[in-house]
Amino acid sequence: MTLLVTDPLYLEHHAPGHVECPERVEAILQHFKKCGLLDRLTPLAPRDATVAEIALIHHPAYIEVVREAAERGGGWFDADTYLNPRSYAAAVRAVGGVLAAVEAVRDGRDRTALCLVRPPGHHATPERGMGFCLFNNVAVAARFLRRRVLIVDWDVHHGNGTQDAFEDDDSVCYLSTHRFPFYPGTGHAKERGVGNIINLPMDPDTSREEFMRRFRESVGRAGREFQPEFVLVSCGFDAYEGDPIGGLGLIPEDYRTMTDVVCKLGVPVVSALEGGYSLSGLGPCAEQHAEGLLAAKQA
Ligand SMILES: [Zn+2]
Repeated sequence: MTLLVTDPLYLEHHAPGHVECPERVEAILQHFKKCGLLDRLTPLAPRDATVAEIALIHHPAYIEVVREAAERGGGWFDADTYLNPRSYAAAVRAVGGVLAAVEAVRDGRDRTALCLVRPPGHHATPERGMGFCLFNNVAVAARFLRRRVLIVDWDVHHGNGTQDAFEDDDSVCYLSTHRFPFYPGTGHAKERGVGNIINLPMDPDTSREEFMRRFRESVGRAGREFQPEFVLVSCGFDAYEGDPIGGLGLIPEDYRTMTDVVCKLGVPVVSALEGGYSLSGLGPCAEQHAEGLLAAKQA
């Protein structure tokens, strides 16, 4: 089996007409129900992260800014990034959802987990939220684990927040595929941290074959050279060909291919939702990803 983490609270963070909407998670869950996947995944309850856990990555003053902004009724950190009165609670539980998954997988309850959390995290830097992200769910989980963690980020956008968090910390290797040049502007191949950052910028014209060739080769090399004990996936589905704000020509089956490549490293894998905005594409892409996680368990 594969663990599945989600929570009704993740649906309470929303803003009218915004593309980063609760319907994204609902679309995936409805599709999972329809194709029978919901019965094959093991539900795992999330928990709330503590402030101390969130502070493994984020500055305490910034955590307080998020809490106060929600308490005051919400607002906007930038033109993209909103908060409503429930956003702090949702963000705390989004971090805690990924923490619950890594605890369960670390303790041997399963080999793989999929966390359908909101708000997403990989653009959130230690000191500020941006790009729809409030707290960096995957980055907190990586530091919480205190192991050699490989973060594989296949969201179509570069995870600038995750790179910021680990560019001086060689216990974590961050590997990102992303459209480039594109939001947020970071992710050049020359950005290498202390040798632990692997950026694979992709021209919008990159073919699927070329994308997969570069992905396979780089993940394989990271596995050999970094010897990870744990993989976290920053799982955006916005490189899907039909994504309304991203798109890099990928089809749902490509998410199976990438999942298989990651699972072949032979270490536990916990995946957390980042972007992905096609309400018709999210289900089929997530289905392929979940099938890959399930197959890893049986191998
Ligand atoms: Zn994205």
